[in-house]
Amino acid sequence: MNSEPEALILQVAVPGPLHGCLDYLAPPHCSAQSLSPGMRVQVPFGKRKTVGVLIQTATHSRIAAQRLRPALSLLDPEPLLSPDLIELSAWASRYYHHPLGEVMAALLPTALRSGQAAQLPTLRIWRITSAGKSVSADDVKRAPRQAVLLDRLQRTPNGLTGSELSEHETTWHSAMRALVEKGWVECLSQVAPQTMPTEYTPQDISLNDAQHHAVDAVCASLDGFAGFLLDGVTGSGKTEVYLQIIRRVIAAGRQALVLVPEIGLTPQLINRFSTRFGHTLAVLHSGLNDSERLHAWLLARNGQAPIIIGTRSAVFTPLQKPGIIIIDEEHDLSFKQQDGFRYHARDVAVWRAHQLGIPIVLGSATPSFETLYNVERGRYARLELPARAGEAKPPRLRTIDMRSQKLEGNLSPGLLQAIARHLDQGNQVLLFLNRRGFAPTLLCHQCGWVAQCRRCDARLTYHQGLRRLRCHHCGAEQAMFEHCPDCSSSELRPLGHGTERVEQALRDHFPQFSCARIDRDSTRRKGALQQILDDALSGHHRILLGTQMLAKGHHLPKVTLAAIIDADQGLFGVDFRAGERMAQLIIQVAGRAGRSAQAGEVLIQTHHPDHPLLRTLLTEGYHHYAAAALAERREAELPPYVNLALLRAEATAADAPLRFLDEALRLAKEIATAGIILLGPIPSPMERRAGRYRAQLLVQATQRSELHRLLDAWLPSLSQLPAGRKVRWSVDVDPMEMV
Ligand code: ADP
Ligand code: ZN
Ligand code: ZN
Repeated sequence: MNSEPEALILQVAVPGPLHGCLDYLAPPHCSAQSLSPGMRVQVPFGKRKTVGVLIQTATHSRIAAQRLRPALSLLDPEPLLSPDLIELSAWASRYYHHPLGEVMAALLPTALRSGQAAQLPTLRIWRITSAGKSVSADDVKRAPRQAVLLDRLQRTPNGLTGSELSEHETTWHSAMRALVEKGWVECLSQVAPQTMPTEYTPQDISLNDAQHHAVDAVCASLDGFAGFLLDGVTGSGKTEVYLQIIRRVIAAGRQALVLVPEIGLTPQLINRFSTRFGHTLAVLHSGLNDSERLHAWLLARNGQAPIIIGTRSAVFTPLQKPGIIIIDEEHDLSFKQQDGFRYHARDVAVWRAHQLGIPIVLGSATPSFETLYNVERGRYARLELPARAGEAKPPRLRTIDMRSQKLEGNLSPGLLQAIARHLDQGNQVLLFLNRRGFAPTLLCHQCGWVAQCRRCDARLTYHQGLRRLRCHHCGAEQAMFEHCPDCSSSELRPLGHGTERVEQALRDHFPQFSCARIDRDSTRRKGALQQILDDALSGHHRILLGTQMLAKGHHLPKVTLAAIIDADQGLFGVDFRAGERMAQLIIQVAGRAGRSAQAGEVLIQTHHPDHPLLRTLLTEGYHHYAAAALAERREAELPPYVNLALLRAEATAADAPLRFLDEALRLAKEIATAGIILLGPIPSPMERRAGRYRAQLLVQATQRSELHRLLDAWLPSLSQLPAGRKVRWSVDVDPMEMV
């Protein structure tokens, strides 16, 4: 104890690679009374200034008083983060073995992280006037930009913010000015409601029995922690169940936090919430600008937003009157952050619900094995919605054996006939292929040369539209070769099929029908995805071809045929979760077909129609498949029956990662207890990526506490290893991908 007893020391969580907090002297003229945990303080950090969060005050420091630096200023007059959020951060920091300051930085919107005042910014919204409501498309046909804006505003009477408008169209300002001048649109400064509205116009659909039971079961447990799996087949009306639970939560004066997958946060879903509850939603997604994000965050914190909808990071949103947490499509991989602070939003949400003493509902048609295991252990109650809501019937699933078939753009005659049949009946078809670009391989037919990425152990994908070759792992790209660089032959052949190539085949085969391709390339431009989906909903596009982006969540009532063009990709993956993922994907794609009165059909092209996964899934359904696969996981001692942590290392020098991991392994063996198994180190499945060599060491433990005890003792010592200076290393607790 070197410091003077009467000193006022601030323990501050500062973003950076640190263990625990840093100590500072209180800023000048700052009394102990004015300080509370959860306030932001500006502090010197190395040569920079940064913003940290006060965790607690103390009178002693382990550091001598003369070596302590004073904090620069106190940024908040009252705590910005409540004690429960500080506790949540501390838990997440311990559980994921990630620095507390970094965890807290992840909690805060950018504006607050950079020291801005925690005050509601004024947002502008544009809204249709009553004069504007009666304007018809003909009145503005000479100003197409205005016509588009007018049409959107007429369809969203609550108005749109700047970023919502920019979603569709980046250059809308001058057209909007013209509409305002004509008196058809007004621009308002959005003022937050002073009190939280608790009553809404009743627009609820009358529920079927299974939905009723689910709503009642959850609403009977609003006063304490309870975990529920809402296990409802696709189209069974899970969203309707959420909406009616939320209505009751709000009526009790409490807030609902709804988490959805990245791609699930579509205007379609937001519209469903906002038509039901008005525009008192706080929506947190990546498209927001800094003020909008701050606005939504503060509304949630002040208790002025009854409903908060967001993607992964919204799990940390402050809630003044927490009432419930709902996670839609809980099996979705986007809930796991794959770099930096590698948390799983679903798992954090469960801990948080427990902490706050509120229920949590996990919804899915294809629950993750982790969640099914928790149901089996009695941790969550299962609420089933076994049938589709309304008139919709479950679709029929069938495989198409591709072996020795004549293929046209990877489409078999059987699939082409089915597509033609559904199109002739006036319906839409949806085709899934998880590979963008034209072809995944470019081969020289003369000498066998294959186009490789120079920086990765991977092939370059040929993008025909751009006439370029791209690496899908590191982003490297180059112009298409005219000649083989090895033998100068011009016989370069694209091998295999990506979405561009299948699109071409579909256009050749069905020239009379409009075909839309939905992948990351075709939706790069802002608003492009929404435009394509709008054109699909209006019936303009009849064939929809896409990757993952198309598989999830969308409700396209005219789709009667859904097809998986190549199921084989997922059947033999190296990851032990490959089967689980494939089964979820097939069921989710199938879920896009036949969502209204017309029956749906689902076709799965494969060279392995007798593969056990496909057989079980198609004849007995997802839950039978899951039960069988879970039994195998138990047998093989894999999650969820054991707990994993993955230590990864990467470096530009080829042998550095393995050398570091070998040393790490030696240290781990010294402290490992009986229930710990250390596997590896081994090179990562794709050893070289973006010019760096990668390797990994897996830690497995039967008891979670044992795993954490090992990590607590082991990780700090890794920083001291000489080989550690030559690599970048990180730890991933509960890794979802073994790459
Ligand atoms: P899920 O989220 O389970 O895929 P949705 O909530 O999107 O299902 O519901 C699918 C469709 O069924 C929607 O068009 C919805 O309006 C409708 N629906 C939901 N519940 C009912 C009900 N009780 N009666 C009639 N239609 C319903
Ligand atoms: Zn060649
Ligand atoms: Zn690459």
